[in-house]
Amino acid sequence: MTVSASTDVPGIPVLPEVPMHLNMPNDPAIGRVVATRRCTASEKAAGFIRHVSIDITGSRLAGKFKPGQAFGVLPPGVDAKGLPHKLRLYSIASPTTGEDGSGNVIATTVKRLIDENTLDHTLFLGVASNFLCDLQVGAEVKVTGPNGKRFLLPADTAAHDYAFFATGTGIAPFRGMIIDLLKHNTTSRVTLVLGSPYATDLPYHAEFVELAKQHANFTYLPTISREAQPNGKRGLYVQDQIALQPKSLGEILDSTRGLIYVCGIAGMELGIFQALARTLPAESRRFYLDLDSDAAGNIDGWTRKMIHKQVRPTRRVFLEVY
Ligand code: NAP
Repeated sequence: MTVSASTDVPGIPVLPEVPMHLNMPNDPAIGRVVATRRCTASEKAAGFIRHVSIDITGSRLAGKFKPGQAFGVLPPGVDAKGLPHKLRLYSIASPTTGEDGSGNVIATTVKRLIDENTLDHTLFLGVASNFLCDLQVGAEVKVTGPNGKRFLLPADTAAHDYAFFATGTGIAPFRGMIIDLLKHNTTSRVTLVLGSPYATDLPYHAEFVELAKQHANFTYLPTISREAQPNGKRGLYVQDQIALQPKSLGEILDSTRGLIYVCGIAGMELGIFQALARTLPAESRRFYLDLDSDAAGNIDGWTRKMIHKQVRPTRRVFLEVY
């Protein structure tokens, strides 16, 4: 049985219309790498995450993308079957005006996929991530897109406040969104909860610290899972901040203006929904979650399979996890 209907929920955002598929895989734009840098908090980070900026001047894609959309990359070469490598999608990490201020340079956040083959324990390197991370300034890369029209900031950004939850490279779309929000809008409250295993791994850490210094309406909450907190208690997952931060998160969530954006590791959304259900008063919980009564009475028993069935996020929740 349903206890609240998502259609009654106040504060549902209207999304802008966005162009898509301007450059198709059979007619990709030829971009050129103009910058590439490691973007973790420390060079000692165990993973390699790079911010790769690609000049797409003159392409149909130029100036026609928004953060939250993705672009495609066509890696050169062929796979084990001799077929051309398939297109891979990467989240746009740039604001609407690109890295250059005029929409001609698009960037993404790439983590090198480095693993072992399960059968013979030989080294496995992800094709596209290592291709992108290896590219030198001046190198050409075939790009397509933009892709996606649902994971976007609303058309009227000033009508809302924002709680962003990211883990690892899931930060990519939020970097661009937060730059857009802070540039155009000083009234909305914006809080970013960014999770990573160790403090060394936080992507764009210095950039967010600086943005928080410059913008009183922006709060940055780095959240480390495998290091103890300063008070000696265990490390935290992003969802733990919902109960711990009544001002910077609680006040946003407990308002008809609040929107929730989630991007990163599959599974984080379940923990976030459980934390919302445990922490928010029933009246504001229904802004984000439409629950069957059985689910409402057994929050600890929720599983990922129940999401979209017995535990339904409303249109005030934007999810991109995999
Ligand atoms: P990472 O640096 O390993 O960080 C992931 C963090 O999430 C760790 O602190 C991890 O903690 C924590 N975590 C693990 N399980 C969790 C759970 N159930 N709830 C909350 N937090 C949890 O991340 P990464 O290697 O960059 O991976 C990021 C993920 O985002 C990838 O799966 C990637 O595919 C995805 N991604 C999605 C998009 C998109 O959908 N557009 C874009 C970019 C990235 P412990 O490991 O300590 O348990």
